[in-house]
Amino acid sequence: MNTQELRALSDEHSAHNYHPLPVVIAEAEGAWVTDVDGKRYLDMLSAYSAVNFGHRHPRLVEAARRQLERVTLVSRAFDHDQFGPFVAELAELAGKEMVLPMNSGAEAVETALKTARKWGYEVKGVPADQANIVTFEGNFHGRTTTIVSFSTDPDARNSYGPFTPGFRTVPYGDVEALRAAVDENTVGVLIEPIQGEAGVNVPPSGFLTAVREICTARGALMIADEIQSGLGRTGTTFAVEHENVVPDVYILGKALGGGILPVSAVVADRDVLGVFKPGQHGSTFGGNPLACAVAREVIAMLRTGEFQERSRTLGAHLHARLGALPPEQVREVRGRGLWAGVELNGKARPVSERLMERGVLAKETHETTLRLAPPLVVSQEDLDWALDRLEAVLSEM
Ligand SMILES: *Cc1c(COP(=O)(O)O)cnc(C)c1O
Repeated sequence: MNTQELRALSDEHSAHNYHPLPVVIAEAEGAWVTDVDGKRYLDMLSAYSAVNFGHRHPRLVEAARRQLERVTLVSRAFDHDQFGPFVAELAELAGKEMVLPMNSGAEAVETALKTARKWGYEVKGVPADQANIVTFEGNFHGRTTTIVSFSTDPDARNSYGPFTPGFRTVPYGDVEALRAAVDENTVGVLIEPIQGEAGVNVPPSGFLTAVREICTARGALMIADEIQSGLGRTGTTFAVEHENVVPDVYILGKALGGGILPVSAVVADRDVLGVFKPGQHGSTFGGNPLACAVAREVIAMLRTGEFQERSRTLGAHLHARLGALPPEQVREVRGRGLWAGVELNGKARPVSERLMERGVLAKETHETTLRLAPPLVVSQEDLDWALDRLEAVLSEM
């Protein structure tokens, strides 16, 4: 089938909950994808950081292939030989003691919220059903009914009520508002160290440190959602490292599955994750052998520091070039490492469409922000090729 026929099928039979660019991808390797007509594009989005290591990285494909020949799913009713090593290796990477594996990012966020509440009642001693969790304006943590309960994006929320109570939302970056919102019944503060969907918003310097201090002073868990910001994207394993902050809880996902399958996890110390007893939480596919085998390879690749280093050095180059774009076209550039939110003076959708025509796949977030997040394996030459095209497209708008 050709592009037209395939797009017509999607249009007719898929719910219209996305507005994809009109490209139909058939194959991919590294930083490049190929459409059904054989045209090649540089992937400057990386599936929102799920493809940090590029498409079909040979080490990850090999790990998956090896595991496909052995065992792929047993459920948590039985242990398997990839599980223990996976949780031990991921805990070590994060400097924590325990891991609770899930599949999608939203499930891991739900798990972290349940962890904070259970910890609040059973360890902190909050009175029954009185726990609150503080979140930030512009947040994106996934799409479940509870998670959209504290979204501030009308599209994410409207028509999904009634909502889950127990959440308070304060402006991102506002220390005093956070301090005022946290009380004796606050069990957690849920934060993206850099807000991804909101447009790659980097908080004011010192903010993560202040969040850490407030959480420590009030006995609340600092919960870092590093699903998009973590695992090398910003030039460090975790984005909280830019302020040398250690949260109580990490939420990981996206790149943890190596771009092959969904793998997510909550990582924390025993005094936190130790609250779960058998039967109190779970997931049929969470921590399955195939997921663990691929994620173990991801962890091994991150241990070398090579991908973080690429993100740092290529990221500096990316931001230098984006910073030199003319102010008539670009209002602001935000981000860290190989991650940028380019705030345009006009609409971003026509820019991503024209980039696509020239062989560069990027995507707008909200009306006027272009988000760039190339795979960390991208070469400087390819990155420059894409930036040349962005320069050309902006100059003709
Ligand atoms: C993508 C994302 C999620 C949700 O992950 P899914 O796998 O889509 O459920 C949660 N938090 C952040 C910060 C994300 O970027």
